[in-house]
Amino acid sequence: MYKQVEESQTLLINTQSKILAEQNRKIIKFGFGQSPFLPPKNVLIALEKAVHHKEYSSVQGDPELRELMSEFHKQHNGLKVDSNNILLAPGSKILIFNILLAFEKADVFIPAPAWVSYAPQTKLAGHNMIRLNTTYKERWRVSSKSINEAVQFKQYRDSILILNYPGNPDGLTYEEDELIELANIAKSLNILVIADEIYGLLNHSNSHHSFANYYPERTITTTGLSKWCGAGGWRLGAAFLYNNIEPALKQALIGIGSETYSCAPTPIQIAAKTAYKNYGELTSYLDYQIQILKEIGNFCADRLNSSDIRVHSPQGGFYIFPDFSLLKEKLNNRGISTSKQLCELLLVETGVAMLPASAFGLDEEYLAARLAYVDFKEPEGRDEFNLHKHGPNIIEGIENICNWVKKT
Ligand code: PMP
Ligand code: GLU
Repeated sequence: MYKQVEESQTLLINTQSKILAEQNRKIIKFGFGQSPFLPPKNVLIALEKAVHHKEYSSVQGDPELRELMSEFHKQHNGLKVDSNNILLAPGSKILIFNILLAFEKADVFIPAPAWVSYAPQTKLAGHNMIRLNTTYKERWRVSSKSINEAVQFKQYRDSILILNYPGNPDGLTYEEDELIELANIAKSLNILVIADEIYGLLNHSNSHHSFANYYPERTITTTGLSKWCGAGGWRLGAAFLYNNIEPALKQALIGIGSETYSCAPTPIQIAAKTAYKNYGELTSYLDYQIQILKEIGNFCADRLNSSDIRVHSPQGGFYIFPDFSLLKEKLNNRGISTSKQLCELLLVETGVAMLPASAFGLDEEYLAARLAYVDFKEPEGRDEFNLHKHGPNIIEGIENICNWVKKT
């Protein structure tokens, strides 16, 4: 017997869009979450120079890079984790999975909506998944109330909460008082928190607060190069363990890493040192991206809202989560009753690719979708961004959606 594991919906939409594009259909790529920004020039040059480093690195990763990352995140997010407690790996996805694997049996609290891979990973690791439901009105945020309500479904001693902000699929973050409230309940229930802060450096107001600042006792923070550096294919992720981590848990994480991926790619680790070494250069590169992402995100949200597709303006990263509930009756009349049907029809009839809300854990009938506003070009030489010049597909895609719902 085989395990039933389908291809991740994020990667699937990429494949489907490519197939349609090969048939000469114009596809507006709002499906896959990857920004077009190239890594900083000095990092690209460093990588070219590092190609001959073909040797394996240690499982935990290059000590100098870990030290630089520790220093950078201390200065930038107040994240105080000793470099000895940082693990590097080929992407943060495998680190999140390995953290789950390090537990025999656990209850894993996952918000709905939340990134597509947490649920399958939890299932593969053999744990009990408990969804924390949220609503549009709650800005898709979990609270101590939702955790308290979900605790009755616990089966095991160990509890893990996966918290991701700025969020995929909603682009929203938590206010400081909300983080304090969540930290307090996590502490009182002795929950291990995986704070997935992969979009932290893309907070649109440059004010990302790491969860570990509020709950240093048991927060593992994950991050990496994939989003802020636009380099998902480079595969470099990091887990910042809490400083007083149980030795058996740290040992299990290093052990599982050694039996699965062995190490993060050596040349990429060398190139990444250049990025984290130059605080001023890195933050000015981030500021430039943030300003563009913020402009595009707000444009998309404003235009959609004006067409009765309600959506919260994003606070970080490059996603929004348009909610078509106000148009439910109209859409039902057209035979659209699930978010999957909504996305399939939108793709076929308008060429706009998005991911259905059901992929993120919402009920199939909930009519919402994730829109990744990444179908634009990075201006050359850090020139000024102009939406008409650099992002015509963004305008066209949003107009297509608005016109399409008007028709229904
Ligand atoms: N978490 C979230 C919320 C993501 O969107 C992604 C996207 N790939 C990841 C984790 C994993 O990223 P990576 O493995 O490339 O570090
Ligand atoms: N994180 C990206 C997304 O949500 C894609 C990469 C992945 O899922 O690994 O679209």
